[in-house]
Amino acid sequence: MKNRFLEKKTKYCGRFAPSPTGPLHFGSLVTALASYIDVKSNNGIWWLRIDDIDNIRSNPNFKKSIQIQLLDHGMIWDSWPEEKGGVSGVLFQSRRNWWYASAFNQLLTDNKIYSCNCSRKKIKSLFDKGKANKLKTGEIAYPGTCKKFKNLNTNGKVSWRFNSNNNDDFIILRKDNFWSYSIASVVDDSMQKVNRVMRGEDLKPTLLRNRLIQSALGLHYPKVFHVPLVTDKNGNKLSKSKGSKTLQSGVHIDKQLKLAWGYLKKNMPPAWLERVSPFTENYFF
Ligand code: GLU
Repeated sequence: MKNRFLEKKTKYCGRFAPSPTGPLHFGSLVTALASYIDVKSNNGIWWLRIDDIDNIRSNPNFKKSIQIQLLDHGMIWDSWPEEKGGVSGVLFQSRRNWWYASAFNQLLTDNKIYSCNCSRKKIKSLFDKGKANKLKTGEIAYPGTCKKFKNLNTNGKVSWRFNSNNNDDFIILRKDNFWSYSIASVVDDSMQKVNRVMRGEDLKPTLLRNRLIQSALGLHYPKVFHVPLVTDKNGNKLSKSKGSKTLQSGVHIDKQLKLAWGYLKKNMPPAWLERVSPFTENYFF
């Protein structure tokens, strides 16, 4: 008898997960396009997830305008079901607190996290005294000061750190009670059964953190590709929150798409381009 489980091919599933700190700019269009064609050229599923965990930096207007911009550019997301928290088929991280809290409890039960009440100032002063070093990203590596406390540290507001044993005990829950990008994104990727992630190269340093949380929670590892960053004339990364030139609704859509595709053709590996080109050129142009 044939084994239908062995026969069943896993469906490609990707997502675009912008933080609504500004409207899309050309760099985010490139990443969205890379993710869209990566998945759709394989007949896969493409979700739109709005990474609005950080309420202070997220703006409701941008949550809407990002959706309009994607649709204007022909990128139509598959509809995330309403009964699983979808709104117009989109998943919003701000509605997923319960799920992150449940992952947090699992990490707590498994002793993978610890509470910490060190301020930034304190960590900086430890660094200045030579008691902490820097990570490759330039961030100061937390020297593990609070790791030794066995009891729950309830002295004032605390953050929660992942006990990584690799000189990078990063924060998963901030003192102001916001979840970190890493925990929210791995929990959501897992729930949405995402197996292909295309994201900007600036997020590369977070990959190990995501993997550590995934393995602590027993979650699968999606395949992650980093799209080379689009920079401005001075070589700086385009940034939504710093107001890099946004895409205007309805204006030069065809031109913008061609430029974005041209950028990918110049910067992505040939084998990938060979795979996605027939779909892209037929669908968009
Ligand atoms: N929300 C992140 C950002 O806009 C991207 C997350 C991801 O693609 O993993 O930079």
